[in-house]
Amino acid sequence: MKRLYWTQPDVLETEVEVVTVGPNQVTIDPILFHPEEGGQPADRGAIGEALIKDIQVVDGKIVHTLDRPLANGRYVARVDKERRLYTATQHTAQHILSGIAAAQFSLETVGVHIGLESGTVDFDQKVEWEVAEQIERRALDVVTLDIPVETTFNDTDAQARSRFGQIEADVIRVVRIGAFDKSACCGAHVPSTGQIGVIRIFDLETKKQGTRASFLAGARALERSQAETAILRELRKMAGCATCDLPATFQKSLERAKELGKEVERIWSLRLGDLVKSAEMVTAGSSPVGVYVGELPRELAAVLAGMIGEATAGAGVVVSDTNIAISSRTLDAGGLLKKIQSTVGGKGGGSPKSANGRLNRPVARGELVDILRRP
Ligand SMILES: [Zn+2]
Repeated sequence: MKRLYWTQPDVLETEVEVVTVGPNQVTIDPILFHPEEGGQPADRGAIGEALIKDIQVVDGKIVHTLDRPLANGRYVARVDKERRLYTATQHTAQHILSGIAAAQFSLETVGVHIGLESGTVDFDQKVEWEVAEQIERRALDVVTLDIPVETTFNDTDAQARSRFGQIEADVIRVVRIGAFDKSACCGAHVPSTGQIGVIRIFDLETKKQGTRASFLAGARALERSQAETAILRELRKMAGCATCDLPATFQKSLERAKELGKEVERIWSLRLGDLVKSAEMVTAGSSPVGVYVGELPRELAAVLAGMIGEATAGAGVVVSDTNIAISSRTLDAGGLLKKIQSTVGGKGGGSPKSANGRLNRPVARGELVDILRRP
């Protein structure tokens, strides 16, 4: 079943013969709209007054789901130009990326997805950023040459990249972009590469043995680049340095934050002895329990609980904000945590010797002491 956009990609409006095939569902002739197939999203648009909600290939037929019923007859059908331009631009850009990757870098395309936010191409091998940048540069050459995107039929020579996208057609349509790409494809494209504009690869992600490259072309590539430039501008302002110095500045800040964290911990650890003395003594069962509720770096809670447990020859319970740590030589620490959590709620657990976790809310020392005193 030939589609109008295969041979006449510029035609976005024409009269069609409508046949109803289900509730709010019709087929049309000629086929003006691209259905959801081959990794490319379906077109939107209108048939007469009816708006298209979805287009799927069902048992070899292209079925349009509308927002209202439509009687059989002839209607003017119009493609949503903006959406078609976006999907056709991204899709044609994908042909160029896949063609260059295969011919010049021996990277086979094993999957394609054109999303409404960005597109992805899955390559069979690991792709380094250096290679991605070279593919981008060569793609720009193909765009600048303004090569026609040609359609031929039943060219058995062309290797179908169809293993990643089911093509339900009674004819094999082959798309050729000069010497850069030739593949069996059912999608909608722009008429020539000059209409694509810049093609940018924004992200590389490891997928099994290969790499998933996220890309955008045309106006959307520009918008994405502008958004990223704005972020860099913001970062430059905050860091007070040039773009090229941002990684080093950021690295330095991270190291400084780590150093300060260690310093804070060191200063607190000097105070731990005093904090042990400030613990309130409670008797739970027949065991002494020292309780500390107050400010403390999370990393030191278990250390302080251990020191209190040792000093009391019993158990130590430390709560800082919603963090809790328990250490015990006499009672079951995990059991004590459960007892506290049965009133306050929270997560965590441990062994008879030590337990830690989080409480659902901060707890005052008085309340904690009351809970521990309960039988
Ligand atoms: Zn295609």
